[in-house]
Amino acid sequence: MISYWENDIFAQADFIVIGAGIIGLSTAISLQTRYKKAKVLVIERGTFPTGASTRNAGFACFGSLTELAANITEWGEDTTYTIVEKRKKGLELLRNRLRSDEACGYEQFGGYELITQQQSHHLEAMHNINTMLSPIFGSSPFLDYSAYKQQFGFGDSVTGLLYSPYEGQIHSGKTMASLAMYAKQMGIEILYGVNVQSLCADDKGVDIDAQIAPMNSDCSFRADYVAVCTNAMIPTLLPGTPIVPGRGQVLITSPIENIPFRGVFHYDEGYYYFRNVGNRILLGGGRNIDFAGEQTYDFSLTDAIQYALETLLQQVIIPNREYRIEHKWSGIMGFSDTKLPIVKFANPRIAIGFGCNGMGVALGSLIGEETANLFDQ
Ligand SMILES: Cc1cc2nc3c(=O)[nH]c(=O)nc-3n(C[C@H](O)[C@H](O)[C@H](O)COP(=O)(O)OP(=O)(O)OC[C@H]3O[C@@H](n4cnc5c(N)ncnc54)[C@H](O)[C@@H]3O)c2cc1C
Repeated sequence: MISYWENDIFAQADFIVIGAGIIGLSTAISLQTRYKKAKVLVIERGTFPTGASTRNAGFACFGSLTELAANITEWGEDTTYTIVEKRKKGLELLRNRLRSDEACGYEQFGGYELITQQQSHHLEAMHNINTMLSPIFGSSPFLDYSAYKQQFGFGDSVTGLLYSPYEGQIHSGKTMASLAMYAKQMGIEILYGVNVQSLCADDKGVDIDAQIAPMNSDCSFRADYVAVCTNAMIPTLLPGTPIVPGRGQVLITSPIENIPFRGVFHYDEGYYYFRNVGNRILLGGGRNIDFAGEQTYDFSLTDAIQYALETLLQQVIIPNREYRIEHKWSGIMGFSDTKLPIVKFANPRIAIGFGCNGMGVALGSLIGEETANLFDQ
């Protein structure tokens, strides 16, 4: 039971955003920017955000050549162009909002894709994809760097290397902390430890039933409008929403002396990704080994994928070097059925924004803006 005072100040708002990931915070910020006098409240189940936004690899990326070639086959050129453009705009929005690259740990060392014999046919698509995407970037986004691959020290299975100067990397923890700080400075309230159980909309607003810390006590919130930004968890509140979970497993090494590269690297059509974090290597991926098993909300790790990651590290990424695996974790991505972002009203009072499909660093801020825009109608 909450008090009159708690109810008056904390449990009612004009807009309540559920989920303090990159989309939730961006939606709240865009709403507060639009509706200056409105009370905007974000509620989040974790003690800090515990979704994909603080568990990802921090690639500020637009899609590797082989991923985009696959996207063009699936969606066609126009949709692929639009998505890449949105990723670029989303990243610009995030960086402008946080004002300094220091606030999100942004570094633009570029992005690379390792090409093996099996993928060499994708290189044929490079010219067309460069021509198609040049208007977005102002020049060709992909360059053939195969002549320089020796200096990176990769294993012999790597036969080619592509480079994109436009990709960068962030510190995901710093980014989310800075975004939360930015939101609070605008007057947005963020309540952590609020696990939403159900929503019920009527003509005038939405009732939100939740459990709150410290004793999992029941608590109700009320808002004129709600935005649900809980990523793969949306169907638990709005059954039937077309999004499924996909777990990503990640590891990070101890510091390695004279690490021979920096930047973000894509491998095996994007199913593996690695980057430097200072002088450590962060490596993730391997979902393609067990798609069915990785379609889960469970945050644990599996031996098969961890073994695949460690083998790739030893044999391809940094052969013959000394290091330890210092930390491992997993996070849950949300995949929409079309693999495209979805921003819409679930009913006249409840909006949803999701579907970054594994690329929310670049796209998330724009999806938040588009979710907030819905309420203008
Ligand atoms: C391992 C991994 C690596 C990735 N690497 C990259 C990368 O390098 N680059 C990139 O662009 N993208 C990457 N992604 C994807 C990216 O992180 C996501 O696309 C993005 O963070 C999604 O943001 P979101 O706000 O939709 O969801 P989330 O960050 O998942 O936020 C949803 C929030 O809702 C909260 N929540 C859920 N249910 C409830 C409830 N009932 N009540 C209250 N709160 C609730 C959660 O705790 C969470 O904080 C990666 C993802 C993973 C898992």
